[in-house]
Amino acid sequence: MKQFNQSMDAYKEAVDLMPGGVNSPVRAFKSVGMNPIFMERGKGAKIYDIDGNEYIDYVLSWGPLILGHADERVVRKLKEVTENGTSFGAPTLIENELAKLVRERVPSIEMVRMVNSGTEATMSALRLARGYTGRDKILKFEGNYHGHGDSLLIKAGSGVATLGLPDSPGVPESVAKNTITVPYNDIESVRYAFDQFGDDIAAVIVEPVSGNMGVVPPKGEFLHELRAVTENNGTLLIFDEVMTGFRVGYHCAQGHFGITPDLTCLGKVIGGGLPVGAYGGRREIMERIAPTGDIYQAGTLSGNPLAMTAGYETLVAMTTEEYNKINKKVDRLVEGYESAAKQYGIPLQVNRAGSMVGFFFNEQEVTNYEIASKSNLDYFSSYYRTMIDEGVFLPPSQFEGIFLSTAHTDEDIEQTIQAVQKAFSKLKE
Ligand code: PMP
Repeated sequence: MKQFNQSMDAYKEAVDLMPGGVNSPVRAFKSVGMNPIFMERGKGAKIYDIDGNEYIDYVLSWGPLILGHADERVVRKLKEVTENGTSFGAPTLIENELAKLVRERVPSIEMVRMVNSGTEATMSALRLARGYTGRDKILKFEGNYHGHGDSLLIKAGSGVATLGLPDSPGVPESVAKNTITVPYNDIESVRYAFDQFGDDIAAVIVEPVSGNMGVVPPKGEFLHELRAVTENNGTLLIFDEVMTGFRVGYHCAQGHFGITPDLTCLGKVIGGGLPVGAYGGRREIMERIAPTGDIYQAGTLSGNPLAMTAGYETLVAMTTEEYNKINKKVDRLVEGYESAAKQYGIPLQVNRAGSMVGFFFNEQEVTNYEIASKSNLDYFSSYYRTMIDEGVFLPPSQFEGIFLSTAHTDEDIEQTIQAVQKAFSKLKE
């Protein structure tokens, strides 16, 4: 059994300093009956905690680190840039370079605005959609998470689903009443909402592949139908690609599914592990943002050279060939999970989009939050603790996906599959 003495001491200190001892609730490990593990360093696909335990990392800082930890190309450039000053509050060339790359790979983004987190990206995109359309209501999907902005913290996924707090106190009723929520993958419910409120809906915001109730891909024509319904009603379609952007593929989820949203939110991979978010879309809409337009949004550290550099180096390294290589590793990992589930008679559903994968202990195909929430959480906790003990670091919740990087080796994958076999063999005991 692994020892966590140092982590335990650090946690005891932290819990007096920060709520729950953490700066983000998803790090609490509450739902798997553990205390937070404090990390010290990472290299490639491996991370090391302060007790010296080593893990193969499938959290990757919750998605950004598609090149793995401390990639040499990124680190070298960051060192160089840091020597020249970390922020100027004035434009720098690297902002143009990253914006050009984003535009090249995501044709729906004609103009982009950099911010500092995914939350900022979605909050700003919503304000823009409301300002542009002159409407107040938005429609989101149950179990989708778009950061912690007031309008979006309603029937949300991720940490709030894990902790059972989908509608947070502190969100004023006057704000919540403008958010309509319907089940994911349910176009009939969307149509029903539009029949009632169509003229008042500024935007539909959607994770094109949901990654915050575990991984749940769109079914059939769901996204195409969303595109049609929004277009017919003068409503903007916002793809929240904070997780899927440059993760599920070179052209993001929208390229993969062949859909052109009006606005796109980005984060995670686009910052290569530094704090970044971005939103962008049609020029005519984006030009409503100050200073060209009248809709205000600003940021002291937005577009800072460190974050822009990490993002730029990461995107440049992620050629289509690299995406293909990661996907092959995912194929093997999924095969390993599926055969272990078969061997031990464990009900397992696997959902996947590129290098985002969701494993659910569930009898039923998982297509929405209601089904995801019926997964066997006791199985998940037991599996989770065995995996940690076997040196595999996973997100500590059934309602989160795992991520792979270009740094995961075939050996890492085989070692993980062995750990899965052990974990599954214990579930029926
Ligand atoms: N949107 C999606 C789809 C996300 O997955 C997340 C974070 N996991 C966010 C928005 C919020 O991003 P951040 O945590 O950077 O604020």
